[in-house]
Amino acid sequence: KSNAWDSKDNESENLPIYQHKARLIRAVKGSTFLVVTGETGSGKTTQLPQYLHQAGFWKDGKIGITQPRRVAAITVAQRVAQEMQCALGREVGYQVRFDDCTSQDTVVKYMTDGCLLREILADPGLSQYSVVILDEVHERSLNTDILLGLLKKTFSNPDKSTKSRSGPLRVVVMSATLETDKLSAFLGSCPVFTIPGRTFPVTCKFGFAVGPKDTESSSYVKEVVKVALDVHTSEKAGDILVFLTGQSEIERACDMLYEKAESIDYRYDVEDQTVEGLLILPLYGSMPTDQQRQIFQAPPPGIRKCVVATNIAATSLTINGIKYIVDSGFVKQLNHNSRVGMDILEVVPISKSEAQQRAGRAGRTSAGKCFRIYTKEFWEKCMPEYTVPEIQRTSLTAVILTLKCLGVHDVIRFPYLDRPEERFILEALKQLYQCDAIDRRGRVTPLGELMVEFPLHPGLTRALLKAAALGCEDLLLPVAAMLSVENIFIRPGHPERQKEADKRHRQLAAMAGSNNDFGTLLSVFQRCKTSENPSSWCKDNWVHWRALKSAFSVETQLREILLRLQQKRDFPTETFNGDKSELFRRCLCSGYFTNVARRSVGKVFCTMDGHGSMVHIHPSSSLFEQEAELDWVIFHDVMVTSRVYIRTVCPIRYEWVKDLLPKLHEVDVYELSSVARQ
Ligand code: ADP
Ligand code: MG
Repeated sequence: KSNAWDSKDNESENLPIYQHKARLIRAVKGSTFLVVTGETGSGKTTQLPQYLHQAGFWKDGKIGITQPRRVAAITVAQRVAQEMQCALGREVGYQVRFDDCTSQDTVVKYMTDGCLLREILADPGLSQYSVVILDEVHERSLNTDILLGLLKKTFSNPDKSTKSRSGPLRVVVMSATLETDKLSAFLGSCPVFTIPGRTFPVTCKFGFAVGPKDTESSSYVKEVVKVALDVHTSEKAGDILVFLTGQSEIERACDMLYEKAESIDYRYDVEDQTVEGLLILPLYGSMPTDQQRQIFQAPPPGIRKCVVATNIAATSLTINGIKYIVDSGFVKQLNHNSRVGMDILEVVPISKSEAQQRAGRAGRTSAGKCFRIYTKEFWEKCMPEYTVPEIQRTSLTAVILTLKCLGVHDVIRFPYLDRPEERFILEALKQLYQCDAIDRRGRVTPLGELMVEFPLHPGLTRALLKAAALGCEDLLLPVAAMLSVENIFIRPGHPERQKEADKRHRQLAAMAGSNNDFGTLLSVFQRCKTSENPSSWCKDNWVHWRALKSAFSVETQLREILLRLQQKRDFPTETFNGDKSELFRRCLCSGYFTNVARRSVGKVFCTMDGHGSMVHIHPSSSLFEQEAELDWVIFHDVMVTSRVYIRTVCPIRYEWVKDLLPKLHEVDVYELSSVARQ
């Protein structure tokens, strides 16, 4: 036991941040805002909270640390609990959406930025905290940007901010890259603490596989596999980190790597005779956390580790021992698509600064190499200089409602670190108005105050609240839960097994008997929950058991939120006479009337939101190839490839949305904007 403790101690004392411990603690004590910057891996995320804990900050309130990514919050909390030798959830805990692992004892709390935003809603003075650390600010996630503005607004003026608090709050903003001047200026020219780090040179090589014409190419998976194997068979010892776009691409790449790595003849192929095997490890957001532990462990002697990761490995999580980078040049990003008027997850070229960050991962402990699969021309013509902050490229509907509920009425003049385009703010106001969350004068309605309590898409929340008012929340809670977790249905990828899975999924839809995809989700949820052996039920039906387990837990949590709100006296109630199927679909309509489409010709539908986009039903829908029998439908989301597909579809009758549709065109956004400016 003492050995583990010793080795831990040496390890953390070797981190660059360790020498600055005393000065850092003093700097945090010395001013309301502090910017801390240092190379990825210098120890900011794991060590600074521990230093502040040792310095006794916990006596005045919790030490809170936000992360833009939920996996990072969980993984880092695990690590720090281990270093502090306590059980996770006791002194050290984490909270992410739908997963709270904290207790009365928790004084070092890692959480997503979204969680802290929700806490501010309940307690604007953050009276439970002595210090709040916004981490990974360089990622410029939407919620972190909003938090920056809010904390600046609330705590810049010490007299005002200490009202609800016993002592002052300290705010630390941590960033890997050098936007520190801008951050410091934004926070009233606050001090900047730089942790000097050493980095080693990384040689970058461009490839031939992806050129300017391949911005939508999917051949990058094959290519990174090829390059990674080349590195493995021709480069000296040292681990490989491959940057890919998402879970399915990563799983595909790992499968290909397993297959090909098996046939390597190490006697002849590998130049460096000390390398005799390849350990392949995937790393992505929704991965089970117990599997993630392996990522950080050193491979056995003679074995080379190859981690295939999303952007999470660029700065959020530091993996030691990486000497080689294979960069696909792409990232999966949520972008507002003005063609369809919605946020869509897209694969896009990374920025040059992102590419440099990726390459830098190879130079932490010695000189490294970075293999880019794209050409120099792709770099010059397709990759932007910097990544556009999320606030400037995604829907602001949810955060604007949060701001309004916090009493920030002038959302145009809110202190944004980078101002979103005004039309995005107007679009958000319009959507909030359309779903009755704000009134014509931009004030939050009673419904809006209920809506903000749910960590869900506004349309889905609206449908849920409608159902609750009608006393049929049991129909909508499972649906909302199922739409909040990832990948319910298994897609094996292998053609034969895919056929089998498809067949099973069609049977599930038929068993639901509702002829709509929301109904299928409800039925799958209920059937699995009431089956004798849920995990084997899932296996038989090609359904992800892990995802369903999360859905069960999410449903319980949504139900708790709803119960809490229903205990308030002013919760609305309504009645309805009609059959259950109609009731269910009408509830959906009241949330999804912004996502209505009508069949125009053949299999083509036209959206009714003013964009008039031409859309098709996605093959994963049970209504696929039944288009001829459909007229009006609503849908949950959209996927764009060469076509625009709608997914999770439900047939409806025009009468059900007739009264709602005019609302989509009723209000002139400039009317809302003039209100927003007041
Ligand atoms: P920074 O936040 O400055 O990028 P971190 O505090 O995340 O740095 O990382 C410091 C060190 O701790 C790195 O060497 C990293 O590899 C190690 N580390 C972080 N998390 C884990 C973990 N879960 N298991 C093992 N080592 C970890
Ligand atoms: Mg960090």
